[in-house]
Amino acid sequence: MFDNLKILYHQGKQFIPDVTNARIPGIFRGRPVITTTKVDGQALMDVCPTNAITLNPVTIDLGKCTFCGECARLFPEKISFTNDYRISTNDRQRLLVSEGQTTQIEVNPAIVRPEIHRLFKRSLKLRQVSAGGDNSCEWELNASNNVQFDMSRFGIEFVASPRHADGIVITGPISENMAEPLQICYDAVPDPKIIVLVGTDAISGGIYADSPALDRSFTEKYPIDLFIPGNPAHPLTIINGLLDLTRKK
Ligand code: SF4
Repeated sequence: MFDNLKILYHQGKQFIPDVTNARIPGIFRGRPVITTTKVDGQALMDVCPTNAITLNPVTIDLGKCTFCGECARLFPEKISFTNDYRISTNDRQRLLVSEGQTTQIEVNPAIVRPEIHRLFKRSLKLRQVSAGGDNSCEWELNASNNVQFDMSRFGIEFVASPRHADGIVITGPISENMAEPLQICYDAVPDPKIIVLVGTDAISGGIYADSPALDRSFTEKYPIDLFIPGNPAHPLTIINGLLDLTRKK
């Protein structure tokens, strides 16, 4: 007992006290900043593997971006990535970052369904569905509840059964084979329920977007409550996105 207490004392607090203002050490690509400097637009578009860059004005779609960094490496005078990890939103249009834009990406309170604040602000149980995922976003969702990020302190947890859940979290580009299991899982969650897409693959199909092996009709059939970009998404992006969606500021 005494030895265990000594270990706890020496380890100190391992959790991040303030997940809204934590700094990410090392290399991390978050919200991009695009300058108004003129560059060869076609050449810029051509470096992007997912067609995330469009022109007039130069815009990056964070729902398609894999955060590979190639555009910033080849056009450093035009594009750079900040370490701003608060890039989740419920408004798909807000994932489009245009040149000259320096504002943060936020949840749009005007389109949050009222029952989300009313019912889920203190407790949110989620069922995760990996719909053809590569296990990267799944790892980060797992990490969101580890001792450092400790998402469960906010009442947000994953549950095994969709019948115990308030919503589903989808990762992966939604392969044809996973379309039906995803639908079955969604149907098993009691109303009212939310849908969260985590990662580039889930939001747009990512590098698989044009594959005939995908069936993304689910994302067109239902309104999406939260888009959490990243490839994979960072735990701080995940946690802040869910907090911003469920809690009024
Ligand atoms: S970082 Fe994003 S926008 Fe830039 S090349 Fe990679 S996928 Fe395209």
